[in-house]
This record gives sequence, C-alpha cells and structure tokens, in this order.
Amino acid sequence: MNVGQPLPPCPIWDLKHSEAKLREAQTDPFTWSHGYRLESVTPGERKFPSFEKCVQTGLMAAELAARRMPVYVGVDLAGKKRKGNAIFALGLDANLRRCPVEIRCGAWSSPDTVRNLAEVVANHDVRFIQVENNGYQQALVDWIKESKQDFWMKVESFTTGSNKTDLDVGLPALEVEFYNEGWIIPGGEFEGHPPACACDWCRFRDEFVNYPKGTSTDVVMAAWICRDAASKWAPKRSTPFKGRNFSRR
Ligand SMILES: [Zn+2]
Repeated sequence: MNVGQPLPPCPIWDLKHSEAKLREAQTDPFTWSHGYRLESVTPGERKFPSFEKCVQTGLMAAELAARRMPVYVGVDLAGKKRKGNAIFALGLDANLRRCPVEIRCGAWSSPDTVRNLAEVVANHDVRFIQVENNGYQQALVDWIKESKQDFWMKVESFTTGSNKTDLDVGLPALEVEFYNEGWIIPGGEFEGHPPACACDWCRFRDEFVNYPKGTSTDVVMAAWICRDAASKWAPKRSTPFKGRNFSRR
C-alpha cells in the first residue's frame, strides 16, 4: 500500500446493501439513524416514538400553507450557551390538527432574528407569536415589541427558566398528540434527503427522532413553545371531526 496516497473511493456500507435498499431504509428515520448511521438512540430512549405516525409521504409544507389556516409561531432564542435560534410555525386545521407550515433555524444576529420572524409572519395568517424568554433574551423580546414591526402586539414571552416540570409535562404531551395522529407532518420536505442534510426540515425530523440524544434541540423547543401557544389561544373546533387523514382537496 502506498502510504500517503489518497484512498480509492469506496462505499461506506457493505456492498450487500444496494442503493435501492439503502434508499428504502432511509424512508424509516429510526431504522436509518440507528441501523445505518449508528446513532445511539434506542427505542426505549426515544421521547417521540410516534413521530413517524404523523409523517405524510410526499406532502409539502406549501400545500399545507396554501390552506391559509390560523398559524401560531414559537421562537426558541439563542442563549448564553447556545448559538442557535429556531422559528416554528404551526397551522391548525378545522379539526385542530397541528400542521407545521414553516421552520427556520440559524445562528442569527438580533436584527436577522427579527427579519426572519417578519418574513414568517408575512407568509402566513399568524395569530400569536410566543418567544422563549429566560431573562437573557428579554432585551430581544422588548426590542421586538417596541420595534416598528406590525406584529409587535402578537408577541408573548414564554419563560422556561429552570422549570423542568414544564418540559416534563409538555414534551410527553407532544408524544400523545403524535400517537393520536394529531399532527400532519409534510414528509416531502425531508424524504430522500441525504443522511447528512442540514436543512431546516431534516433538523426538525432528526431532532424529534433522536431527542434527547441529538446534537441540537432548538427545533423541538420551538415546536413545544409553538404548540403551547396554539393550545392556549386556538379557537374552539367549529366543525365535526372528519377523520385523521388529510385530504388534499
Ligand atoms: Zn434536508
């Protein structure tokens, strides 16, 4: 062997796994993460084992957004130890099923955070925005409220602090909703993306599948803050429950 020569290109996995087989495995995020990416989360450790029940293959977020549902927004702001911000926008259909319509993440400056929030507000019929506020973030929350942004009156702060009970109660509630197929998750936004894809929707999927062992939790937090806003302020369901499956028309 020539020491110092670059290695020839070779597949990462054993050749017994054809590309078709790998692509098939990839459609099941848990099998993929655990069996092929060797991520350490095991079924018993998963906080959201029912997440995949709500994934609707091929459905795009734009199809959900086009229905102009009332939308609630959750914002997880960067803290002292974390750089990431996440914005999560959730539409509620007539049966109050939770439909993610937009997700944005980034290590933004304060003006960038407000700009991203303004764009999300412009894209949807946003009713309320709940922003995490742990004291450290108060200045940004105040700034949004005092800014000339026309959504200032829709912003409410949400204090998580060290109150772990909220997390203990809130996160299992999300799993109950997934189990009951109370979410409509647009699978077309992440299906077929490469395993290392870092797009906002893959982050959403990976964080929920791997929680609490994933490398980040910003999107789970933003979704939780958002779901809390939707539960507090959602209108009462006005039409009879029509069943679980989302119909395109
Ligand atoms: Zn992706």
